[in-house]
Amino acid sequence: MNFQQIFGAAPATEASAPGRVNLLGEHTDYNDGFVLPTAIPQRTTVHLGFSRDGQHHFYSAELDQKVSVSEHDATPQGFGSYIFGCIQLLHQEGYTIPPVNLYVTSAVPIGSGLSSSAALEVATLRGLRKLLQLDIDDVRIAQLGQQAEIQYAGVNSGIMDQMASSLADTEHLLFLDTRTLERRVIPLPADTEIVILDSGVPRTLAGSGYNQRRTECEAAARLLGVQALRDVTDPQAVEGLPEPLRQRARHVVREDNRVLEVLQGVSAAYFGELMNASHASLRDDYEVSVPALDALVALLQSTSGVFGARLTGAGFGGACVALVTAGQGRAIAQEVLERYNNTGYSGRILVPAVT
Ligand code: ADP
Ligand code: MG
Repeated sequence: MNFQQIFGAAPATEASAPGRVNLLGEHTDYNDGFVLPTAIPQRTTVHLGFSRDGQHHFYSAELDQKVSVSEHDATPQGFGSYIFGCIQLLHQEGYTIPPVNLYVTSAVPIGSGLSSSAALEVATLRGLRKLLQLDIDDVRIAQLGQQAEIQYAGVNSGIMDQMASSLADTEHLLFLDTRTLERRVIPLPADTEIVILDSGVPRTLAGSGYNQRRTECEAAARLLGVQALRDVTDPQAVEGLPEPLRQRARHVVREDNRVLEVLQGVSAAYFGELMNASHASLRDDYEVSVPALDALVALLQSTSGVFGARLTGAGFGGACVALVTAGQGRAIAQEVLERYNNTGYSGRILVPAVT
């Protein structure tokens, strides 16, 4: 069903925002560190119009769900919480937001680690900016999206996802300093493209494992006498820490350094090596990989045309990302997926998008 069929009128405007994948800089954002995401081709689109009955109405085509809510109501559950949060935060910024009809449709896989949630927030905020001609810039949109996710959806999100969705495109990497929000747009290495495969293994332990890693990093920073691990630049400095803090800090410090190396300008081959080193570090020092991710990464790394591969996202399941020769992405993805699924897993291709 389209907007007209749901709301009985044509939409006044539309806006969209992409999902994202992080190429390098994993588990660094909550250590005030550096990340290197890019936008994926799949986008979330919102169509909007004014509601005449005093209530906001949100509809998701993917979920075939409709949520109706008034300004003074409690936050709705589920996908409505992200949209309601964006509207409430704009109110708090001093904008008057009249009741709206908002229709969501998306090609971003939901819950696969490609940030469908940030794409929903950024698309919603862009749509409201356009509909009401609000004077907010793309960085503010990212910050409001993050706050909607934290305060209204109840998910402790860093700023990377929303900054990537709001500021990155598919041809460039977005270098981001998560402490200062200083950023730089750098091209993807020449003649490369990105492949993303879902391992098919759910991120079951991701929540508890993630919180435990955060706590360990805070403890390591305290022992080292710094505000956050991002303030440590020499990997040797962590060697005196007790285990497992030494291993955890070693990953973060080296991972930050890997991201900074890319800023110097590196070849596709070297970029791939940095991705491979990142995976080894996430597996051995940070201990957030699982056998399925290791198997998928190993298959990718041993395939011709692949410069490098690693798990992406929090780990404990989820997806892997690879940098490959331009034009070979689809063939590589299909070949690797077949070999992976032949070993008993049920993965799927996320990028290049299946059309
Ligand atoms: P990810 O951001 O990695 O895809 P999250 O768990 O952070 O996974 O966000 C997924 C949630 O975002 C969904 O459960 C839903 O509430 C919301 N969401 C994202 N995209 C859509 C959509 N197209 N329609 C409805 N809800 C969506
Ligand atoms: Mg998300």
